[in-house]
Amino acid sequence: MPALPSAFSARLIAWQKNHGRHDLPWQCSRDPYRVWLSEVMLQQTQVATVIPYYRRFLERFPDVAALAAASPAAVAEAWAGLGYYSRGRNLHRCARQVVADHGGRFPASAAALEALPGIGRSTAAAIAAFAWGERAAILDGNVKRVLCRHFGVEGWPEAAAVKKTLWALAESLLPAADCGAYTQGLMDLGATLCTRRRPDCSACPLAATCIARQEGRQGELPAGRQRTAPVEKAASFLLLTDGRGVLVERRPPAGIWGGLLVPPEGEPEALLADLGLAGHPWQALAPVRHSFTHFRLLATPVLCRLASVPSAAARPGREWLPLERVGTAALPALFRRLLVGLGDVGEAL
Ligand code: SF4
Repeated sequence: MPALPSAFSARLIAWQKNHGRHDLPWQCSRDPYRVWLSEVMLQQTQVATVIPYYRRFLERFPDVAALAAASPAAVAEAWAGLGYYSRGRNLHRCARQVVADHGGRFPASAAALEALPGIGRSTAAAIAAFAWGERAAILDGNVKRVLCRHFGVEGWPEAAAVKKTLWALAESLLPAADCGAYTQGLMDLGATLCTRRRPDCSACPLAATCIARQEGRQGELPAGRQRTAPVEKAASFLLLTDGRGVLVERRPPAGIWGGLLVPPEGEPEALLADLGLAGHPWQALAPVRHSFTHFRLLATPVLCRLASVPSAAARPGREWLPLERVGTAALPALFRRLLVGLGDVGEAL
């Protein structure tokens, strides 16, 4: 028999208080700015990855007013490496909207939060539950997995009909009080026990009523999507260097790597001709695969070493980035990895 909603939430809250996570850096505060920042960073990103970014971001932008006043380039730099860059851009837009429309204070309800850029229904509920204890249901990837397994919900959780069922279930399970601990408990359970692979059912507070456990179907639930082969795109990127710096271009705000610094993309010969370097020798390095939400990129770095900085590097939208700044500049992680040590590679050519 599935658990009654009250028994489900009571067991989860008791477990969270005794065994859940209590020492994450954002858990020491109910400040909506900090809660919001952590929730946005944690979308699609693991806790261990988020922690150093969260700390550095707060040092640089201690409150929503500081973030709103920052330049897009400064925000992109602080976000670089976290991936899913539209989140960083929306974060900035949201901060500006909170300052412009709400006097610098986050509106204190899940419904009002959801109207802000980059805050979906689940994120709005999590912020409202943690900052103000609001009774609002969350439904992120971890929670979907817990609910599908515990209640034996069939079908791919992202399918509209399945998602609707899961939202209704999530709403029905909300406790009358202690919504912050309950919400944290759901998140903790999904992250630490009811993991994607090898869930630790023997330690789970919901084990007695879990359908997946009773039927031995933890590996089947939640159901996966009917897979189609991912689209793969190929592109070349010119790594033009004098051993001390490298040419990068600022991407337009929308689209892949929006607002970040990226080496010029295109056919090497055409790029070199455009830079006034037609016929200059270059060398293709080993291609690198990188996955985006909707496609996979096969990126071929093309190394071209020069004796001095070309005058075309000074055109608008371009920068000659010193190699010692590669670790902190607003570069996507893929290029940061490629450009680290470029000085050595360049010297060897
Ligand atoms: S018993 Fe196992 S499968 Fe069921 S909710 Fe707990 S950890 Fe997940």
